[in-house]
Amino acid sequence: MSLTMDTLVSLCKRRGFIFQSSEIYGGTGSCYDYGPLGVELKQNIKRLLWRDFVQSRADMVGIDASILMHPTVWKASGHLDHFTDPMVDCRECKLRFRADHVDTLPWTHYCPATKGNKFTIPPGEPCSHCGARRTLCPDCGKGELTAPRQFNLMFKTFMGPVEEDASVAYLRPETAQAMFVNFDNVLQSMRMKLPFGIAQAGRSFRNEITPGNFIFRTREFEQMEIEYFVNPHDTVEGRPADEYWHDRWIADCMAWFRRYGLSGENLRLREHDKDELSHYSKRTVDIDYRFPIGWSELMGIANRTDFDLRQHAKFSGKSLTYFDEERKEHVVPYVVEPAMGVDRALLAFMADAYVEEEVRGEKRVVLRFHPELAPVKVAVLPLLKKRDEIVRTARAIRADLAKQWRVVYDDTAAIGRLYRRQDEVGTPYCVTVDVQTVGDSEKGEAGDGEVTIRDRDSMEQARVPMDALPAVFHDLLNGGAWSQVAARYPAAK
Ligand code: ATP
Repeated sequence: MSLTMDTLVSLCKRRGFIFQSSEIYGGTGSCYDYGPLGVELKQNIKRLLWRDFVQSRADMVGIDASILMHPTVWKASGHLDHFTDPMVDCRECKLRFRADHVDTLPWTHYCPATKGNKFTIPPGEPCSHCGARRTLCPDCGKGELTAPRQFNLMFKTFMGPVEEDASVAYLRPETAQAMFVNFDNVLQSMRMKLPFGIAQAGRSFRNEITPGNFIFRTREFEQMEIEYFVNPHDTVEGRPADEYWHDRWIADCMAWFRRYGLSGENLRLREHDKDELSHYSKRTVDIDYRFPIGWSELMGIANRTDFDLRQHAKFSGKSLTYFDEERKEHVVPYVVEPAMGVDRALLAFMADAYVEEEVRGEKRVVLRFHPELAPVKVAVLPLLKKRDEIVRTARAIRADLAKQWRVVYDDTAAIGRLYRRQDEVGTPYCVTVDVQTVGDSEKGEAGDGEVTIRDRDSMEQARVPMDALPAVFHDLLNGGAWSQVAARYPAAK
């Protein structure tokens, strides 16, 4: 089965992960809203990034900077002069494209060999009737394209009540610059020693010429970036420290994606060619993922050298150096930058988790999320919603477990359908309360106080005492294998 973007988009909308922004007004181009399940998933991704790359490491700290920064930041960083893409316009339909993306789009062709019939031809391919290649606008197929012009991708706005040149401000196009301009604040206040890193997760804005492919390329998105500062005079394992740490970060980021579920065959490293490198970069490696649209960048890990700190020192007139106690000298650290798009990571985790399978002659759609990523950890379901005692018990279990995890209660369908619904949003475990659990007071029968836990992936079930649930889920949601936990309890049918 090959998963299409349309399938994902429709699941995201139907099940409350992601909606088109301002949909009732016809939608805002390339902006999306995360719904109740999407927000949980995204927060889990950010929380795990923070836990694994900041909280658990003695050499990392975080910041949360403002989106609007001093305009000179963007002069110093090179964004005002270099953060551009070449764009071309169609002279007929006026649509605008990124010059380097035109041949990655399907193109419209009115074929002279077939009396001008209209065809849509796959990207980069010639017409199979007349052999022509695309020269005109890929969308309308009629207009000529203008010569490429450079277009700055930063969103411009004004600070304060007067719209004049002196009050121009920009929405940040990346989170990185705040780490450079706060380098000395962090160094002094936290008494950091090289090597150390500063992380930030937050919104970035780029006025992309050709956004698209759902949340893959949008104009407002979230990034998690790390600036990892190293002493360029140090060596680690016989190699220059910046090169050593660059490779370490590439390996750590790759391992992180694998750990939370991306399969190795859908991940690859891509080395930037010399002529592709950004103006500040000594070496850049992308981690590419095989998205439903094909192999594309998931994140980039660049060796930005000392470019940024030197530029900000030059433009601000402030010293941005580190005092090397051993060598008794001031150095400008080199920086390794792992830069991740949170939305792209979310798209990759969803695509990789998506499985369609056949169970007893019926199609089952499952998102096999890693339990730590799953938006909902446990769903508590009453087998019979007409029995008060069952409903009361199920609600009480939800309330108790919800002190620790995101847990939902659902009684709006029969149990089979409730299971399928939870499978489709990736809930790893369901708890079912039935007559046996609560007994029948009218007949004077006591319940056994046990509930059924169902595992999403194997669909196996075990019968567990209610009061053991917090401990059982503590195990299961912290890396415990279902088979081991289930072995302690009788299987349920
Ligand atoms: P691309 O080549 O796809 O435009 P980039 O190389 O310009 O991306 P970086 O500047 O390295 O991207 O940004 C780091 C990460 O931020 C990217 O790997 C991606 O995950 C994310 N990102 C960048 N632009 C966008 C966007 N328009 N929408 C969503 N995520 C983005």
